[in-house]
Amino acid sequence: MSSVIDTIRRLLERPAQSEPGVVVPLDDPSIDRLLHLLCDTRDDELSCDEVFIRLDEYVDCLISHGQVVESQPLIEHHLGLCADCRDELRALQRALARAAADD
Ligand SMILES: [Zn+2]
Repeated sequence: MSSVIDTIRRLLERPAQSEPGVVVPLDDPSIDRLLHLLCDTRDDELSCDEVFIRLDEYVDCLISHGQVVESQPLIEHHLGLCADCRDELRALQRALARAAADD
């Protein structure tokens, strides 16, 4: 594992003499986080598009506390890793809350 870390460190810490301000030192916690993300992907991983088309159903399920949708574990796994889809989920929830308030 340390060789992977060394490789990542070499790739990301390559000195850029022409742009010294661009070099971001990669500390051990950052590498751990990166490796964790890499290891935490699954074979049946959903793409952002796939999560996006299921978000309506997922939010309905959250609101109604009803039947758990089949893909919920996959959606939640993806939401745990993907800030873009979390933003999308929050936007959808806000829109639904506004729509409910208008009723
Ligand atoms: Zn995503």
